[in-house]
Amino acid sequence: MKKVAVVGGGMAGVAAAYYLDRGAAREGLPLEIAVFESDRRLGGKVRSVEAGPYRLEAGPDAVVRYKPWFLDLVRELGLEGEVVGTRPAKPAALIFKGGRGHPLPEGLNVVIPSRFGPLVRTSLLSPLGKLRAALDLFLPRGPEGDEPFGAFVQRRLGREVWDNLAAPLTGGIYGGDPYELSTLAAFPMLKELERRHRSLVLGSLLAMRRRRGNREGGSLFASLRSGLGRVVEAAASATERVDWRLGAPVERLDYDSGRWHLFGPWGAEGFDALVLALPARAAAGLLAPLDADIAAPLTEIPYGDTATVTMAFARDGFPEVTGHGVLIAAGEGARARGFTWLSQKWAGRAPEARLLVRAYFSGTAAELDEAGLLDAARADLERILGPLPEPEGHWVYRWRAGMPQYTVGHLERVRRIEAARARWPGLELIGAAYRGVGLPEVVRDGRDAAARLLELLPLNP
Ligand SMILES: Cc1cc2nc3c(=O)[nH]c(=O)nc-3n(C[C@H](O)[C@H](O)[C@H](O)COP(=O)(O)OP(=O)(O)OC[C@H]3O[C@@H](n4cnc5c(N)ncnc54)[C@H](O)[C@@H]3O)c2cc1C
Repeated sequence: MKKVAVVGGGMAGVAAAYYLDRGAAREGLPLEIAVFESDRRLGGKVRSVEAGPYRLEAGPDAVVRYKPWFLDLVRELGLEGEVVGTRPAKPAALIFKGGRGHPLPEGLNVVIPSRFGPLVRTSLLSPLGKLRAALDLFLPRGPEGDEPFGAFVQRRLGREVWDNLAAPLTGGIYGGDPYELSTLAAFPMLKELERRHRSLVLGSLLAMRRRRGNREGGSLFASLRSGLGRVVEAAASATERVDWRLGAPVERLDYDSGRWHLFGPWGAEGFDALVLALPARAAAGLLAPLDADIAAPLTEIPYGDTATVTMAFARDGFPEVTGHGVLIAAGEGARARGFTWLSQKWAGRAPEARLLVRAYFSGTAAELDEAGLLDAARADLERILGPLPEPEGHWVYRWRAGMPQYTVGHLERVRRIEAARARWPGLELIGAAYRGVGLPEVVRDGRDAAARLLELLPLNP
């Protein structure tokens, strides 16, 4: 009987355990899997909360459909009937800039305009800003290597497209300082568009045409009726040979003659393989005594704080809001990155007479305490909408060092981590720190690590 330990029961660890379990069943491999999770619940950042008549998310709120791996898992679990898309909305969101909301131009390729019509009509850019964006059609290709995402967008489309469109959108996804993101790590497809088509806008137009053909159900984002946490629960209960150990932190590791030894307040235990599905710093802490070459690049991955504040309001007397939410451009004096009108974005999250609003914070603003975050959320919302009634309920979730920042050099750090990891038999490092911060990517990471171990384990005596 082979034994695998998965440390960390977030989405990546749960996916790894699920795919190990399914693969062992399929191949008739005698395998025991133990998941060690320090918290009393599974899911990590995935946390769907039912609070009276409200359904909210403490962490992630949606998955993008064009990265299929999360929804593949949903389908395997037989949950496709529970998948919901966002409610139709035109425009999908506004950008708050210069003291007012501007509709997002239609046809964005992630954060880049793909059509000239909406770009010409948008109130987000001045006539000069539009002319500068149009230069993208004529500018030569830039350098092949990595560059800060802010520099990349400004080089192709100009400062206004960056400040008023790409930066607020990117900050809403990655938090932190969007300028410093590694273009190659965070948006490799945009760099590839420049390489292939030279113009980002023309390349985006072609990419969007292809993608529209693949998109089911119309909406770009998806969730489950009762929230994303449903997938964690379903994956955990679908397994047969996984021992889910909650409240079981791993505090120390050792490796000796082909076996990984785990230690914690619960005792000590040996395993044939080890999946670390942890934030990079937690993984570094465990691996540092064994291998400085792996710990060093792990500690170099920067993390930023994030927080969400969800508020419930009576619709009666609340100003009319359109679309799914509003993103706030830098320089508007706000501390929140933006707001999502949750009950307008998803069906069934609040009673008809109520509005559920979520504020997203990152960077230094997310370091505020709970009361400070609530005050900041209310003040920023009033800045956008005018005076508001008291919320009938509020829920604040802080994620300290919650978001890895893929800054320039990220791919090189991951390459160094991989090179050092490969020297340790049966060790896998997965999760949001490495090959994509979104839920689809961490599920793919878990699935791929499981496949590698299922190949490796039968070979070892
Ligand atoms: C506010 C917010 C909003 C987001 N929105 C979206 C979104 O809309 N769409 C999207 O796709 N992604 C979103 N993300 C990103 C996504 O949620 C994460 O990338 C993903 O959930 C990370 O999963 P993970 O398993 O890698 O890590 P985690 O969820 O961090 O799991 C790691 C687990 O390891 C456990 N652990 C730590 N140390 C130990 C130890 N020593 N022993 C045992 N266990 C330990 C932790 O308790 C935790 O459960 C968002 C993230 C945040 C914070």
